[in-house]
Amino acid sequence: MRKNIVAGNWKMNNDVKETKALLKELKKGLKKIPLKNTKVIVAPTFVNLGVAVAETKKSKIKVASQNMHAAKNGAYTGEISADMLKSIKVKTVILGHSERRAYFGETDAVLKEKVDSALAQNMKIIFCFGEELNDRKEKNHFNLVENQIKNALFHLPETDWKKIVLAYEPVWAIGTGETATPEQAQEMHAFIRKTVTDKYTSEIAENVSILYGGSVKPANAKEIFSNTDVDGGLIGGAALKAADFLAIIASI
Ligand code: PEP
Repeated sequence: MRKNIVAGNWKMNNDVKETKALLKELKKGLKKIPLKNTKVIVAPTFVNLGVAVAETKKSKIKVASQNMHAAKNGAYTGEISADMLKSIKVKTVILGHSERRAYFGETDAVLKEKVDSALAQNMKIIFCFGEELNDRKEKNHFNLVENQIKNALFHLPETDWKKIVLAYEPVWAIGTGETATPEQAQEMHAFIRKTVTDKYTSEIAENVSILYGGSVKPANAKEIFSNTDVDGGLIGGAALKAADFLAIIASI
């Protein structure tokens, strides 16, 4: 059975002190939320990953990285490898976030290499993709999303899909306050599941968690998460406030 997941992408926010304080509040709040089939993940900046791992030991919170480089090591100034993440017990990485694609030139081909490198280290991947507003206006959004998934993930053997979580994030809804309607989210998530079924098997498609991301907040989380093919969310802005993130988790 696929898991529900609520993951907080902290982006370039929170110093050490703020990281510790937010995690303390989250740990306290999570004691009051029955999690059942739900996994909670936070993705702080690289410099705070070690602190976050220490802070979340013995808690229900898992720590993910927001990015990594595909190479094992070498002359890549400013970069971090999968091995390095694993060495500090970070076993999940977010790949393909729209900000990485837009500001750091991450193409499908680059992402495919990162995916392979993460899997070679037995890491789990939250793989993000989604269309821009123009793609939707031109009714090219299904095609674009299908290609983003296909180009980075469809070379993988079936066994690797146990380590993949998909995150549909329409770019026009990220950090804009604009959210996809529950119908738009369900329509795209069902399409994604069918795309995976057609390439692999319905069993693999039924077992892959598909998260929605884009201006999820306490006020809209329940309605979005209640759709059959929406298995949780990747949360940006609202993950920075403990009360909001906890309310989103509680609404699943
Ligand atoms: C994100 O960046 O993944 C995201 C969903 O951001 P926000 O929730 O702020 O739209």
